[in-house]
Amino acid sequence: MAPLIAIIGGGPSGLTLARLLECNGIDYIVYERNGSSDSHNHQGGTLDIHGATGQEALQRGGLSEEFENMARRDATTAQIFDMTGKHLLTFGEGRDAPEIDRVQLRAILLKSIPADKIQWNKTVHKVERDAQKDVVISFSDGSSAGGFRLVVGADGAWSKVRHLLTSAKPKYSGKSYIEGKISPNNPIYPKLETKVGPGSLIAFGPNKNLAAQQMSDGSYRIYLGVTVAEDFFIDDNANVDLSVDDGAQARQFFLSSNDYFAEWATEFHETIANCEHGFRKWPLFYLPPESLVWEHDSQVTLIGDAAHLSTPFVGEGVNCSMYDALVLAEKLKEHGTGPGLGRAVEEYEKDMFRRGRDLIERSMGSGELLFANDAPKTLVQVIKGNASP
Ligand SMILES: Cc1cc2nc3c(=O)[nH]c(=O)nc-3n(C[C@H](O)[C@H](O)[C@H](O)COP(=O)(O)OP(=O)(O)OC[C@H]3O[C@@H](n4cnc5c(N)ncnc54)[C@H](O)[C@@H]3O)c2cc1C
Repeated sequence: MAPLIAIIGGGPSGLTLARLLECNGIDYIVYERNGSSDSHNHQGGTLDIHGATGQEALQRGGLSEEFENMARRDATTAQIFDMTGKHLLTFGEGRDAPEIDRVQLRAILLKSIPADKIQWNKTVHKVERDAQKDVVISFSDGSSAGGFRLVVGADGAWSKVRHLLTSAKPKYSGKSYIEGKISPNNPIYPKLETKVGPGSLIAFGPNKNLAAQQMSDGSYRIYLGVTVAEDFFIDDNANVDLSVDDGAQARQFFLSSNDYFAEWATEFHETIANCEHGFRKWPLFYLPPESLVWEHDSQVTLIGDAAHLSTPFVGEGVNCSMYDALVLAEKLKEHGTGPGLGRAVEEYEKDMFRRGRDLIERSMGSGELLFANDAPKTLVQVIKGNASP
C-alpha cells in the first residue's frame, strides 16, 4: 500500500515536512531527483534561519540542539560600502537569524528521518490525474507511483506539481547573481577576512552590487548582483560565458566594462579578479504574488518555492518554506489524514497564501532598493529609518 503522503523534493521544505510528519507518526515518502551523496550546496551557500519561522520549525521537529551546534550566531553582521570603497553602515549585529550552510541544514534534516523514507535519483517527469481522478506521479526512469491521499509539491522553482493547482509560471526579475568563491588559501583572503569577518559585506553601485558572505569552512561566497536581460547568459546571445577558461573570460568582462565593475574601487577589482575557478549564474525568478490563490484540492498542495517562489532579497525564502512545512504538519495533526484532510490542506493554504504573497512583495520592494540607480543612497536611508521602503 502507498504511504499516505508523497513529498516531491528533498530540499529544506520537503525535508522539514518529512521530519515533522515523522514526529507526528504520519506515513510519507520523499522523492528526490538528486542522489544521496550529490552536493546540495546551491541556491545560497549560507542561509540565515529566523527565530519565529525556520528555527521554530526545527524546534518543533526536536532539532534545536543539532541546529545550535552548527549555527553561526556571530555571522549576522553586514558591512555596507559604496563602490568607491567608502564604509557607510554596519547593521544586523545580534539578530536572531544565525547562519548555517545549506549542506549542514540538509544534513541535520536528513539524519532525522529514516533512510527508507526518501527515494533518491527519482526525478519526477510529470504529475497528472488518471481516469479515476487519482494523482499519479511519473518518473524519468519510466516508473510511476500513485494511491496517495496527498501529494505535496516541494520541488522548488520549476515545480512539476504546480500546474495541477494554478497556471502561474515563474517570471524573470531582471536581476541575476553570479556566484564565485574565495578560499582561505587565496592570496587576497587575509584582506577580505579583515574587512568582512564572520558575517557579510555588500557594496553598491548603480543597478548592481557585490556581496561576500563567509561560510562555515571560512571561505567566502562572492555574489555579483547585476541587472541583465533574461537571455544575457544564453547560448548565441551570451555576452559572457561564465565557464570558459575557469571563469577568466567572465572576470575580464565584468572588470573591463563600465556597465559593470570597471569603475569600482581596487579592492573590489581584486575580489573579482581572484575568484576561483568558474562562476555560477543565478537568474532570479519569482511568481506573481496575485497567483497565490487557487481552488482548493484535497489531494494536492504546494510548499516552499514551489508555492511562492520569490527573489532572495529579504533572505526569507527558506524560512517561509520551512514554516509552510510546520503549518501543514500542524494542520494534518489537528484534522487528521482521514475525512479532515481536505480541511487541513485548505487551512494551511489560506495561511500560506498570505505569507507567500507578503514574502514575494517585500522581496520585490527590497530588490528595487538593492539594485536602484542611486544605490545605496535610499537603502541606507531606509536602514537608518529616515525613509520608507
Ligand atoms: C542565489 C540564491 C540565494 C538565496 N539565499 C537565501 C538566503 O540567504 N536565505 C533564504 O531564506 N533563502 C535564500 N534563498 C532562497 C532559498 O534557497 C529557497 O527559498 C529555498 O531553498 C526553498 O526551499 P524548497 O525546499 O522549497 O526548494 P528547493 O531548495 O529548490 O528544493 C527543491 C528540491 O526538490 C528537488 N526537485 C526539483 N525538481 C524535482 C523533480 N522534478 N523531481 C524530484 N525532485 C525534484 C530538488 O533537487 C531539491 O532538492 C536563495 C535563493 C537563491 C537562488
